[in-house]
Amino acid sequence: MIHLRAMTKHDRPPHSGHNAPQPVRALREWLDRLSTTGRLAVLRPNVDLKFELSAYAKRLDGRRATLFPKPSGHPIPVVSGLISDRAWMAEAMGVDPAEMLTHFQHAATDPLPWQETREAPVQEAVHRAPLDLAKVLPLPTHNEHDGGPYISAGLMIVRNPRTGKQNVSIHRCQLTGPNRLGVLVLPRHTFAFHRMAEEAGQPLDAAIVIGVDPLTLLSSQAIVPIDHDELEIAGALQGRPLPVVKCVTSDIRVPAEAEIVVEGRFLPGVREPEGPFGEFPQYYGPRANREVMEVTAVTHRKDAIFHTMVGGGLEHLILGAVPKEATLLTHLRRNFPNVLDVHLSPGGVMRFHLYVKLRKDQEGQGKNVILGAFAGSFDLKHVIVVDEDVDIHNPQEVEWAVATRFQADRDLVIVPESQGSKLDPSNRDGVGAKMGMDATKPYAAPEMTFKRIRVPGEDEVDVSEFLKRDTGVDWRKALKQ
Ligand code: MN
Repeated sequence: MIHLRAMTKHDRPPHSGHNAPQPVRALREWLDRLSTTGRLAVLRPNVDLKFELSAYAKRLDGRRATLFPKPSGHPIPVVSGLISDRAWMAEAMGVDPAEMLTHFQHAATDPLPWQETREAPVQEAVHRAPLDLAKVLPLPTHNEHDGGPYISAGLMIVRNPRTGKQNVSIHRCQLTGPNRLGVLVLPRHTFAFHRMAEEAGQPLDAAIVIGVDPLTLLSSQAIVPIDHDELEIAGALQGRPLPVVKCVTSDIRVPAEAEIVVEGRFLPGVREPEGPFGEFPQYYGPRANREVMEVTAVTHRKDAIFHTMVGGGLEHLILGAVPKEATLLTHLRRNFPNVLDVHLSPGGVMRFHLYVKLRKDQEGQGKNVILGAFAGSFDLKHVIVVDEDVDIHNPQEVEWAVATRFQADRDLVIVPESQGSKLDPSNRDGVGAKMGMDATKPYAAPEMTFKRIRVPGEDEVDVSEFLKRDTGVDWRKALKQ
């Protein structure tokens, strides 16, 4: 299934026909793209897996993906920062950034079942238990107080013990023993399957897939009902059924073209300490007793690449944000078809602050949109609604709207004592206040009162020639010509 985009006023070619950009289907293809466009930094060999690797990745966050040959001497290289910018994700999809959310939502509601294959590069090499995970894989330690080395960018795949349907999600997995991982499992789909197995006194088979393309990574974060296999969303985004292969120690199907798979099972009734771990709000998630996964095998490509995400880095934030924005946009448009766009801002750790672009057609509507947004996600803490002439991807523009179109006594909404994120350290165990700011101009305001000033031709004049020769120009001479 391929979603063709409509023509836009942008000067890029339309995404249809023979030269249409194609969605990225493999990690290696994406690395080639980054490399040929100056967005992949290849570091020196032997960078230390403890902190040093993350230090480089973080310094280059937002500008370059990073590739580390022989980290701490390990034969498997590590890559980080695959998606360091929102526009990179749109590029991986083969769509314009303005269409990314609706494109993703189409794939989530119209998924494509995967296809089983026997040709699985990810099983070229097989290590079975007993094994020492730290020897087999290069496991980095990221932030200062992290509890130890982590698998932070692995897609955890488990199956519903009753229906057999798969679930895909990302969990932080701390190395706690030679073949043991402590896993944070929040109460969602993996959690539900784990509890079902546990009630029957059974272990739950699991597979952690490391090193996939950006679209498969993104699909794992889709907000879809239980028993919707997120690998089918990846297929829809890639425009082909995703090739999968059966694990060597369980019935789980994993992407056949991935780099590495860690196979294992969650142990029933076992909880052990995991954490702390540097999380998306730029604080540590605490150490506590968590679910435990015992590793039964590792399979990988012969020349495998390990992917790591630095906790709290842009890659971490963007992967969660795009599906959340897509879901919030769909949710809001059900009641407010005149909501044009939404954005979870980087300053709000791409979870807590939502900017909404509204083509207001009723007085008071801004506040209704604020209340609607809070009903769409308990993580949201502050919502700002602006008019369609404000660029919601530019925080300075949103601040301008607040500065000139908002009055605290009229346009502020506060909801006390409501459910928020447990990772916001300023609330009380997940209970805190919501604040909405309606920064839209009054519906019936006189036209000139809120008309933005504009210099005719500002967007059209070509300044590139003057920018190129702006040093060493003899201005006195130029005036005499
Ligand atoms: Mn799910």
